[in-house]
Amino acid sequence: MKIHEYQAKEILATYGVPIPRFEIATTPGEARKAADDIGRMVVVKAQVHVGGRGKAGGVKLAKTPDEAEGHARAILGMDIKGLTVEKVMISDAVDIDREYYIGIVVDRATKKPVYMVSEAGGIDIEEVARETPEKIVKHAVDPESGLSPEEARELAGKIESRPAVADRVADFITKLYAAFVGSDASLAEINPLVITPDEVVWAVDAKMNIDDNALYRHEEIAAMRDPATETDELRKARDMGLSFVKLDGSVGCLVNGAGLAMTTMDLISHYGGEPANFLDIGGSSSPEKVVTALEIITSDPNVRSILINIFGGITRCDDVANGLLLALSRTSVSLPIVARLTGTNEEQAKEILAASDLVSADSMNEAVEKAVELAKQPA
Ligand code: GDP
Ligand code: MN
Repeated sequence: MKIHEYQAKEILATYGVPIPRFEIATTPGEARKAADDIGRMVVVKAQVHVGGRGKAGGVKLAKTPDEAEGHARAILGMDIKGLTVEKVMISDAVDIDREYYIGIVVDRATKKPVYMVSEAGGIDIEEVARETPEKIVKHAVDPESGLSPEEARELAGKIESRPAVADRVADFITKLYAAFVGSDASLAEINPLVITPDEVVWAVDAKMNIDDNALYRHEEIAAMRDPATETDELRKARDMGLSFVKLDGSVGCLVNGAGLAMTTMDLISHYGGEPANFLDIGGSSSPEKVVTALEIITSDPNVRSILINIFGGITRCDDVANGLLLALSRTSVSLPIVARLTGTNEEQAKEILAASDLVSADSMNEAVEKAVELAKQPA
């Protein structure tokens, strides 16, 4: 789950990570008041789930409450990479001497949290990674023993040469790691970490992603979910317990099991098509799940055919077949549907579907090939 900068900063502050004082505003008037409270130069920052807000005009310095109000008026409602700004952060502006990058991600290859530090902070870190990868130092952390003070100090030394400041950066690195582990984050990124002219260290920007599967043990973080940033489809899928990822192709997929869903997508590509989504209806599917899944798939205007690929283990094929008929009776689906149901109660499923318009297929290859072909036909 993505969270906003201000939410990441709230979490980080509880771990002692140094965060400049800030307030949140949803109107220009509130922004003025916040700037007045802070009483010094502030920075007005768009709160949206994308990076590069600075370049897009979503981060502005303001010397007076008047100016802060003006910037807030311009930024609130602004569209940044397709997202509408609904909140701004009014943050105490810090003086910048150096801007560094530090971040932690869970690395699948090493199966460890990997710390990345760079003295080339502030700007687009993806660009640094592309053009001058040697400027990013990586270090895998042993998740069992955690990050030792020595490791933290060594990492700090890679970006900061002044010993006293490097000690402060090391302390920052240690606290960020604690926050990362403690909140079950999959990513925690500070860009820039700022060193002021008088050598004070601040997290000026913060980005965190939280592992969805760990949200059950972080009630306060789960409550940070911002419904405004989610599509209706995503919300519907989650409420029904479906794993859904929207993609750009034309073959809508309704599959059970993440592995089978991935394989189905691969096979669609193999036959020259493109999946419109990843959708795993999970085990023991009720007809309601199938109904919801079909509603989600058919709400995507790019979808030209629907492929249903079910392996009946715990999930019973007849349940899925009933769900399909129910769904088709409720919503008029004008798209061609190819169904391949195999496993538990497949014979009953075939009987149930015999009277419908569905194209049935016996093998997975056949089903995918047909669905791809149908998706290519003119409407
Ligand atoms: P991003 O563009 O979405 O990554 O947003 P950031 O929070 O990183 O802000 C972009 C840039 O604005 C930073 O790299 C800084 O150069 C500048 N900036 C942000 N906050 C401050 C601040 O408190 N003081 C100063 N002087 N500049 C800031
Ligand atoms: Mn940034």
